[in-house]
Amino acid sequence: MSEFSKGLLVVISAPSGAGKTTLAHELLRRIPDSRRSLSSTTRPPRQTEIPGQDYDFISDEEFDALEKKSDFAESAVVHGYRYGTKKSTIQEALDRKQALILTIDVQGATSIKENFPDSLCIFVEPPDFDVLETRLRKRGTESDSDIRRRLENARREIALKDQFNFVVVNDRLDRAALEIESIIRKTLSS
Ligand code: 5GP
Repeated sequence: MSEFSKGLLVVISAPSGAGKTTLAHELLRRIPDSRRSLSSTTRPPRQTEIPGQDYDFISDEEFDALEKKSDFAESAVVHGYRYGTKKSTIQEALDRKQALILTIDVQGATSIKENFPDSLCIFVEPPDFDVLETRLRKRGTESDSDIRRRLENARREIALKDQFNFVVVNDRLDRAALEIESIIRKTLSS
C-alpha cells in the first residue's frame, strides 16, 4: 500500500539540458511511492537509452493508431518528434495512490493541467542560459543544428514558466531535488 492517501500527478517541465531527467531519478529515489511516467515517442533511441525503460520507442504509424484510439492523455510535437503520455499510465498511478512523475514539455504540462486540475506542475529552470548550452554540448548526444533548435525552444519555454505552480532553479541537484521533494510532500499532506 502507498504511504499517501491519494495519488498525485507531478509534472516536471524544463528546457532540454536543464537536468530534469537526473532530477526525476533523484526524486524517485527519495519518494518511495513514486514512479516515472513512461512516454511514447517517435524519436529514435539514443545509444545510451533502453527501450521500454527510457521511452516506448514507436513508429509514426503506431503513434497514429494510439491517437486514433484516444489512448493519450496528452501528446505534443517536440523538437520535430512526437511524444505522448498514455491515459492508462496516469490512471494506474492514481489508482495505486502513487506520485507519478511526468517529465514532459510545456505544451504537455498545459494539457495535463487542463485535464487534471489537481496536478502539481513544476518548472525547472537552469541557473543561466550559458549553463544550459554547456550541458547540452557536453552531453554530446545531439547534432549542432539540434542543439540550436533546443536552445531556441528553451527561450520559448522559459517565457511560459509563470503558468506553473512552482519554479525551481536547478543550481545544485541535491538542493533542487530537496526543494521539489518538500513541495510534493506538502501537496500530498494538504
Ligand atoms: P528528449 O528527446 O530530450 O528525451 O525529450 C525532448 C522533450 O520532450 C523534453 O522536453 C521532454 O520533457 C519532452 N517529452 C518527453 N516525453 C514527453 C511526453 O510524453 N509528452 C510531452 N508533451 N513531452 C514529452
